[in-house]
Amino acid sequence: MFIEKILALDYRVMAFPPPECCMPVKIDLDICDGCGECETVCPVLAIVVKTKAQVIEEACTKCGICIEKCPLSALLLDSVVAV
Ligand code: SF4
Ligand code: SF4
Repeated sequence: MFIEKILALDYRVMAFPPPECCMPVKIDLDICDGCGECETVCPVLAIVVKTKAQVIEEACTKCGICIEKCPLSALLLDSVVAV
């Protein structure tokens, strides 16, 4: 039973690889108004907002929360797959 759960998890990981492997978060600075919402919701403090938002790429886990919360849709996922 336990091994079946492990195998099922492995299958899901292979079928749906974690987004951090292929979808870096990008900010459209022409759209961002510096409201700070993304900085507030980021669970790992990977966004700093002064006049505009800036992602600290080394800290970002690509969870996508900031993308959902940005009121101006200024945060994007880069869909280019890294190889
Ligand atoms: S939530 Fe959107 S508009 Fe606000 S600072 Fe972040 S990226 Fe800019
Ligand atoms: S994707 Fe997640 S970890 Fe990365 S900046 Fe946005 S909220 Fe933070």
